[in-house]
Amino acid sequence: MREILTHKQRIVIKIGSSSLTHQETGNLNLSKMEKLVRILTDLTNQGKEVVLVSSGAIAVGRKSLGLMKKPEELALKQACAAVGQARLMMVYQKLFAEYNQITAQILMTKYTMINDISRENAQRTFHELLKLGIVPIVNENDTVTTDEVEFGDNDTLSAIVAALVDADLLILLSDIDGLYSDDPRSNPDATFIDTVEVIDDNILKMGKGAGSNVGTGGMGTKISAARIATDAGADMIIANGEDLSVIPHLLEGKNVGTLFKAHKNQDFNMLDYLSTKQYPKE
Ligand code: GLU
Repeated sequence: MREILTHKQRIVIKIGSSSLTHQETGNLNLSKMEKLVRILTDLTNQGKEVVLVSSGAIAVGRKSLGLMKKPEELALKQACAAVGQARLMMVYQKLFAEYNQITAQILMTKYTMINDISRENAQRTFHELLKLGIVPIVNENDTVTTDEVEFGDNDTLSAIVAALVDADLLILLSDIDGLYSDDPRSNPDATFIDTVEVIDDNILKMGKGAGSNVGTGGMGTKISAARIATDAGADMIIANGEDLSVIPHLLEGKNVGTLFKAHKNQDFNMLDYLSTKQYPKE
C-alpha cells in the first residue's frame, strides 16, 4: 500500500498521444477519452484539484488532414497542431460537458516559463481556474514554438506545470507499466522498479530504454520530468495508461506503477531545468 497517495489534493495528469488514439488507425479512442473524463470529473467531485496535460494535437491534426505519417516539416507539423488542438478540445469539452464539468485550455511554450511576467500570469491563471473548480487542459503551443522555445515533449511540460501550480502529485500515463532496469521489450531479464527514492546515476542509465512511436517522450524524458517534479516537491508516478482505472487505483494507494518520491529542493528554480535538455529527443 502507498498510503501517502490517498491524501493527494492537487494532481497533474499527463496523457500521451499513444494512450489517446487507437494503435491500428491513429484515430481518437473515444471510449477511452470518455472514461478519462469520467474519472477526472469524479476526482473533482471528491474535492481534488485536477490539471490535465494532454498531447494529441499533432496526431489528431494529421488524421484530419489525411496524412499517412508523422509530419517532419515544421510548417506542416504546426498546421497539424493548429487543426488538431481545436478538434481535441472540442471532443474534451463535449465529454466534460456531459458531467457539467467546466474545462479551460492553456497552451504554453518554454518562453511562458522563462519570462517572469508570463510565468507569473500563467501561475495566477492556473490558481484562479483551480479555485473555480475548473479542469485546465494544457498542451504545448505547438503552432508557434520553434526549437529554441519548445519543451518538445509533454513529459517535461507536465513536470513544469506540476512545479508551477505547486501540485502534490504528477501522474504520467504511458504505454509501459513503469520503470524497468532495462527495456523489457528487448531484455526479458529486466526487473520492475517499484519505488525510486533518489534519482541517481543508476536510475538515469535506465532512462536510455523504451519509447513509443506515436508520441514524443521515451523513458529518458520521464526521468528528466521526475527530477523536476520531485525537486519541486511533488511525488511522481509513471503508470500504464492502457487501462485508465489505474488512476483511481493508485489514488486508493494500490501498488501500481513506479513512484518517484518527492524531496523538495529548497532552492528549486524551474529556470535551472529549462536551459538544457537532459536527453536528446527520441
Ligand atoms: N504537444 C504535442 C501534441 O500535442 C505532443 C508532445 C508529446 O507527445 O509529448 O501533439
